[in-house]
Amino acid sequence: MNKEFEVCFFLLVILRSHCAEASSIVCDEPDCSKAKYNYDRESCLGPVNWSDITPCWSQCGGNRQSPVNIRRADATFSNIGSFTFNIGVQQAFQVSTFSKGFATTFKIENANIILSNVNQFGLTGSSFKLDGFHFHTGRYNSMMGSEHSFDDEFTPLELHLVFYNTKYPDVNTASTQSDGLVVIGVLTQASGGVWNSQFPDCQKTNQAELSRVLKKAFKKTEDYSEDELFFADLALKDLLPADQESFYTYEGSLTTPSCSETVTWIVMKCPITVSVNAIETFKNIKIQNDEEELGVHGNRRPVQRGQQNTPFTLLRNF
Ligand SMILES: [Zn+2]
Repeated sequence: MNKEFEVCFFLLVILRSHCAEASSIVCDEPDCSKAKYNYDRESCLGPVNWSDITPCWSQCGGNRQSPVNIRRADATFSNIGSFTFNIGVQQAFQVSTFSKGFATTFKIENANIILSNVNQFGLTGSSFKLDGFHFHTGRYNSMMGSEHSFDDEFTPLELHLVFYNTKYPDVNTASTQSDGLVVIGVLTQASGGVWNSQFPDCQKTNQAELSRVLKKAFKKTEDYSEDELFFADLALKDLLPADQESFYTYEGSLTTPSCSETVTWIVMKCPITVSVNAIETFKNIKIQNDEEELGVHGNRRPVQRGQQNTPFTLLRNF
């Protein structure tokens, strides 16, 4: 009798978890605010299907989508100079962290970090405020974690620093405007890994302070919570490579739905380096309202352009 009860209970648990899983997946959601996406290539919510999930994500199927493969030989030199900041790269500012879907987002607290002298694609004269930053990575045991690649080669992690045009009140409003967003992408290596021919003209760096902060932040946000949980001090030098002058730039999009085609991308020529441990801790984070860990599918969108040739304007300033 007891045994029977146990078996029934076991079946009930399986059935319930199965039903819960099936009901949480809605492949076609007319209400944009309810739509969900993921990075599972087998799922109807996976990256190739993002544009079909809900009407306001149709731009995910557009023709200026990001990320791209940067074919170095295809980049055209342009005399656009280097961007500048209103604060020194050593100056500390406070960041706060909370889990948001597939990425632990770092917000800038009580600091106005302004990017200027962005002279490409008609942005001369505009200034951009740093809203926050986040990371993209790959699956467990995969070295392919960055969204952008250089000549088809990836790094285990990529940092995105998200800036919005100060002529708009906030990042969400700016993201709908053609001159709204600038994102600085920094390919990120894992310490202890090979410092290889991937970045031949770059100085080896080690972002020890960033590694320490990331490990703590990811550990804190491991179990999803909407609450802001963690505060830390960082400086721009922790988030940028030693060479802060040289970059590639092109016109692209957000790499997550809604995939708005309003981003001027600046992808730094040189990488930064964080500890393997920090990257592993990131992969252990549980995805929003889900028991699955980030490292099962990662949170990198596959390359959208530049695999074969570069039929779009890719500039370099060096
Ligand atoms: Zn991103």
